[in-house]
Amino acid sequence: MARQIRQSQRLRDVRYDVRGPILVEAERLEAQGHRILKLNIGNPAPFGFDAPSAILHNVVENISTSQGYSDARGIMSARTAVAQYYQTRGLKSVDVGDILIGNGVSELITMVLQAFVDIGNEILVPAPDYPLWTGAVSLAGGIPVHYRCDESNGWNPDLADIESKITPNTHALVLINPNNPTGAVYSEDIVRGFVDIARRHDLVLMSDEIYEKILFDDAVHHHTATFAGDDVLCLTFSGLSKAYRVCGYRSGWVAVTGPQHVASDFLEGLRLLANMRMCANVPAQHAIQTALGGYQSIDELIVPGGRFYEQSMTAWRLLNEIPGVSCVKPQGALYCFPRLDPEMYPIVDDQQFVIDLLHAEKILVTHGTGFNWFDPDHFRLVTLPDVATLTEAIGRISRYLAHIRV
Ligand code: PLP
Repeated sequence: MARQIRQSQRLRDVRYDVRGPILVEAERLEAQGHRILKLNIGNPAPFGFDAPSAILHNVVENISTSQGYSDARGIMSARTAVAQYYQTRGLKSVDVGDILIGNGVSELITMVLQAFVDIGNEILVPAPDYPLWTGAVSLAGGIPVHYRCDESNGWNPDLADIESKITPNTHALVLINPNNPTGAVYSEDIVRGFVDIARRHDLVLMSDEIYEKILFDDAVHHHTATFAGDDVLCLTFSGLSKAYRVCGYRSGWVAVTGPQHVASDFLEGLRLLANMRMCANVPAQHAIQTALGGYQSIDELIVPGGRFYEQSMTAWRLLNEIPGVSCVKPQGALYCFPRLDPEMYPIVDDQQFVIDLLHAEKILVTHGTGFNWFDPDHFRLVTLPDVATLTEAIGRISRYLAHIRV
């Protein structure tokens, strides 16, 4: 008999639940002819969002000149555009040599962690987190150590909890700002707090800022690197997927700032990994200069009357109207992360809750433990559908919750 072909041991602890068993079940129902409203992934295009037309034209224009591999670090115009972007935002010393272009932030997170983490290294990751961070730390052989973000304090990170979890084996501190899944946007004081911890404990900062332009009301985004100065190594991740609505192009970057002289060995390793995967998708790299230099149509979506704003606020308001459901107001990003009062909804397995909701109401959300949240009492809802669809969807969620309430 043929031997069983198994996944590698390295994958045993890796989870990515937003596309995990819940999606398999949704697809099974779709194959049976059910229409499923999928609110599990932050992908604007299927919800009627178009990229700025200048980006689409630029990619088409460059399609024939993009047939070869590019420099593994990315094409010069894209790296220059990213460097200039940060220079104009207070990071004066950034130059093209500090920028690496990737197939989305996802590839860069995985690559950076592969280059950085040794077996058993501890990396501080938020809870809740965007689960790629936890998964990529585990894949690299590291130990993700989760620090608590405090729902009762606007989902701000508990800096004391971070400090208490630092050991001699801690190597890096990850922050996601604006945050997925909570929608929190950190004040200058909080961002400085992260930098202060990194400085005192000699940690590398990894700052995921992919939602930096999706900000509501008076929320202001602060680049972590601005405060990290010359003495704290900071890796800033961002890209085109969300603000420019081109998730499918796979276009992102990482900027390395701080004391590069102490990091030359790591950076050499990162370069090796970049070389081994040849380069990022070249047509999409052309979109970067156009996106960063062009008209910022995202600004229209995030103000009152704009779709991102109205949808987020509608979802937040309607969720809070459901008995036993409370949701912190999102200050940015594309999600709501409501809490289900365990007294009224004594959920033991929140993935099963999501699957039961899917069966009953044909709506797919993602369970909170899929974001490495500690308790089975949250779920994440993507706020990308138009207001009418969202209203209908939350009405159906409310109906299901009324059915299971004790
Ligand atoms: N980081 C965060 C916090 C995200 O939410 C996402 C996607 O949802 C990513 C990174 C990955 O983005 P990309 O499309 O650039 O790979």
